[in-house]
Amino acid sequence: MNSSPSLLLNFAPDVWGPALREAAPGMDIRTYPDIGNPLDIDCLVTHTLPQGLVQSLPNLKLLYAVGAGVDYLLAEALKRPDIRVARIADEAVSGDVASLAVAATLSWVRQLMPYVEQEKTSTWAPLPHRSSSETTVGILGMGRIGGTTATSLHALGFRVCGWSRTGKNLPGVQAFSGQAGLKAMLPRAQVLICTLPLTDETAGIVSADVLASLPQGAYFVNVGRGAHVDEDALLEALNADRLAGAFLDVFKHEPLPPAHPFWVHPRVRVTPHVASRTPPHRVAPQVIANVLRLRAGEPLMNLVDAAAGY
Ligand code: NDP
Repeated sequence: MNSSPSLLLNFAPDVWGPALREAAPGMDIRTYPDIGNPLDIDCLVTHTLPQGLVQSLPNLKLLYAVGAGVDYLLAEALKRPDIRVARIADEAVSGDVASLAVAATLSWVRQLMPYVEQEKTSTWAPLPHRSSSETTVGILGMGRIGGTTATSLHALGFRVCGWSRTGKNLPGVQAFSGQAGLKAMLPRAQVLICTLPLTDETAGIVSADVLASLPQGAYFVNVGRGAHVDEDALLEALNADRLAGAFLDVFKHEPLPPAHPFWVHPRVRVTPHVASRTPPHRVAPQVIANVLRLRAGEPLMNLVDAAAGY
């Protein structure tokens, strides 16, 4: 084993470097591509993986994702069973994603965009009232983000259903799981919010069939990953007026290409993958604590289950 274990940082070194060094004075922290002796590196903190980097670090033990999603790291990690993957778990991050999903839901339910349009022409024309108490929201994924979204919407008076692998129970939220659970939840979901991680099982989950199972005039919100959605099927459902609209923060191809029909669709709202930003100074201590645990042979926190994919 290496005599002097080192952490390698491969993401935004100008902000993450100072944050990590402040959290770990004296720790050897290197910045890609200045790796030094590759044998020294036991932890890689990153957002993307340069080709071959993982394979070039024989003593790498921990891949640390600087965000909540790890879909881009797992394929490489799975090639090396000796490597574990951890992710940032931060209430402020999941709270921010949840608040965007809640904002998108409220904006549609309370018809804020049509009223913005009316204001431009000084038009006083109340639209049919939609009440939160008469609106059911179905949430795909009931983890940190989905759970926070569910409890927030429940607190605002919505009827909330949540679908997860294990059927997670939260007060006031009806739990569903498995294919049968999904089939049962979808026809109730006047708003469907995707907060899932991207895995082999969830890729393309928002399919033509799923969209067709929603009630007529439902609204779709995606803050998970673009690859959860069959974009052609979504456009078709919108254009056939089966779906009232969609709010999308994430896309199959990012940045969303200028010619993509989502940009100009009158009932699609686009935000440029801005649901959250991981604050380096806030989360650096949890990264360093985990690295110290690794070196002390102690159990690690916030590990990803590589087999499950999240
Ligand atoms: P968690 O790991 O806390 O939660 C994941 C949830 O998804 C769990 O409830 C899990 O079920 C459920 N799930 C996973 N696989 C399946 C499946 N096959 N069928 C049904 N349910 C499933 O993740 P987070 O909430 O922290 O983050 C979720 C995702 O949000 C991230 O992976 C990332 O893709 C996205 N994200 C987007 C951001 C943005 O800027 N738009 C920012 C941050 C994250 P169970 O509870 O049973 O395990």
